[in-house]
Amino acid sequence: MKIGFVGLGNMGGPMAANLVAAGHAVAGYDPVSVLPEGVRPCADAAQAAAGAEVVITMLPSGDVLRGVAAQLVPAMAPGAVLLDCSTVDVDSARAVADLAAAAGLRALDAPVSGGVGGAAAGTLTFMVGGPSDAVETARPLFDVMGARMVHCGPAGNGQAAKICNNMILGATMAVTCEAFALADRLGLERQAMFDVVSTSSGNSWSISTYCPAPGVGPVSPADNDYRPGFAAELMLKDLRLSQQAAVQVDADTPLGACATTLYENFVEGPGEDGRGRDFSALLARFESHGRR
Ligand code: NAD
Repeated sequence: MKIGFVGLGNMGGPMAANLVAAGHAVAGYDPVSVLPEGVRPCADAAQAAAGAEVVITMLPSGDVLRGVAAQLVPAMAPGAVLLDCSTVDVDSARAVADLAAAAGLRALDAPVSGGVGGAAAGTLTFMVGGPSDAVETARPLFDVMGARMVHCGPAGNGQAAKICNNMILGATMAVTCEAFALADRLGLERQAMFDVVSTSSGNSWSISTYCPAPGVGPVSPADNDYRPGFAAELMLKDLRLSQQAAVQVDADTPLGACATTLYENFVEGPGEDGRGRDFSALLARFESHGRR
């Protein structure tokens, strides 16, 4: 397939490299990041879009996506698919879909789970919103870049799924960290804590797969001095998107709000050291702070 790719950073770079390795012709544009080998460099986003059957974007935020989409849409071939894989707010995803539809194009919001490791290995999970025919057009690309794709419904529903998933992740990681810190103070061995919780009703991905306590459970960023992994500031970004969405639709999300405040303090609070560390390093914060 002829593909345009805009935003080739930590995630987009390896995703584009996998498309090249699978034999697709990829034209790329990024103002900062180095393009992977085999991606044809373009002078701007519009040039990367020209003649492409699918244009993929992997960008930092909804505002950047809206700006880039305004450049891409007039340059895209009739009937082409705009496939946004960034994590952005639901409103931006729906606005971009409307812009594309008004120009006779098709758009999908397809945020991913799996991180930089999943992007490099081609094992991402895609959660997709948009029309079924566009999903079918993009299916061969999902197969190359990912291991799993779930079509979640119309435009914006991919972002809705991502935001809800990551709100659960933020809240379960936070409570898992506070439970480990509480267990420490109660004199419970960490291995015993892991053995019980990972096989009991308190179990979740946050303990059984990504245990925040070093030295117990499968190898995780905790065993690598909390180098990310999934950085705390990215967790904060996604939690803020969940709270923004909750306000817009008048949903009551007290635990999501609490997790957002915890990560806000951890990443941006005075004297805190969360920025640049894995999001599971919240355990170290609970250990060092005690009750207040
Ligand atoms: P990144 O900052 O490494 O990459 C973003 C790229 O977009 C950069 O190379 C930047 O130069 C480029 N860019 C910015 N403005 C641009 C513009 N106007 N035109 C063209 N390119 C532009 O970020 P990342 O880690 O690759 O994340 C990308 C998206 O994926 C984000 O929405 C993030 O939330 C999401 N995501 C990241 C991870 C992760 O673990 N890193 C996991 C899941 C989802």
